[in-house]
Amino acid sequence: MTKLLKGKPVADDLLNQVKKFAKNNQLKMAIIQIGDDSASSWYRRFKIKTAKKLNIETIDYQFGKDENEDKIIKTIRQLNTDSEVNGIFLEQPIIGDFNRNNIVESISGDKDIDGITEKNCGKLYLNREGLFPATAKSIIKILDFYNIKIKGKRIVIVGRSNIVGKPVAFLFMHRHGTITICHSRTKNLDKVVKEGEIVVAAVGKAKLIGEEFISENAVVIDAGYNLEGDNVYGDVDFENAKTKAKAITPVPNGVGKVTTAMIFNNLVQAYKYQNDK
Ligand code: NDP
Repeated sequence: MTKLLKGKPVADDLLNQVKKFAKNNQLKMAIIQIGDDSASSWYRRFKIKTAKKLNIETIDYQFGKDENEDKIIKTIRQLNTDSEVNGIFLEQPIIGDFNRNNIVESISGDKDIDGITEKNCGKLYLNREGLFPATAKSIIKILDFYNIKIKGKRIVIVGRSNIVGKPVAFLFMHRHGTITICHSRTKNLDKVVKEGEIVVAAVGKAKLIGEEFISENAVVIDAGYNLEGDNVYGDVDFENAKTKAKAITPVPNGVGKVTTAMIFNNLVQAYKYQNDK
């Protein structure tokens, strides 16, 4: 029978650890939104709500799409030097005519709890300790939580974005998985994906990965989150793929559930870096 890899128990486990840590250590997170992307606004508010439950302080910055870039960078630099602020989360996408790199790279690597700066990307590449993207870490965490081995497995990842596909590929490689990364120019996608003992979908196309892409005994991790009207779909055609896969994450209540918890886990990690714990 197909095992359902639900995100909630994984997220609860992470959040309990964060809560315990936050009891003895005052954590503070700055959240910055630039422009008015509705999904980002929702995620920003959700983080603030979750932080409150965990006894974590937040500072909320909302800049308009016409804000002066230097002013935003100056604010970020002040947060970098503020010893009470442990983590800085920049909501993406950034809306407006900004040089994204200038803004992202103004975040101190030690406070970059979304793992988006060159410093942390470099650390991930080199397999050093660092702050890495929460969704990528969540995918690995789910597999570990459900005791699914990575070492030696053939891993097929669909998607090569900087925030999901690429970082998760490095995390898998450092755990001795054998990696194939697919993207929009991959030929015979179905055949390539079918070779995966673990399949990760991070595409942004509802139900793209059908049952015919999945081999018997594959473990399927769906990072996709596609809103269609009132419904949310993953990148995997869940209803059909689940008849084939050995294990599969649902959408919603799969990877997404773990991602927010992982951001707070990154905040704890950042606090420890800053306080030598
Ligand atoms: P991006 O749009 O940045 O990247 C999508 C990737 O999918 C690209 O590498 C693209 O290829 C590839 N792709 C697009 N179409 C196809 C296709 N037909 N066949 C094969 N590959 C294709 O998306 P993100 O990585 O930011 O997000 C991916 C999904 O994950 C989305 O559904 C998003 O909502 C979700 N997400 C979920 C999070 C969570 O916490 N659960 C957090 C972040 C994202 P190419 O590079 O060639 O263009």
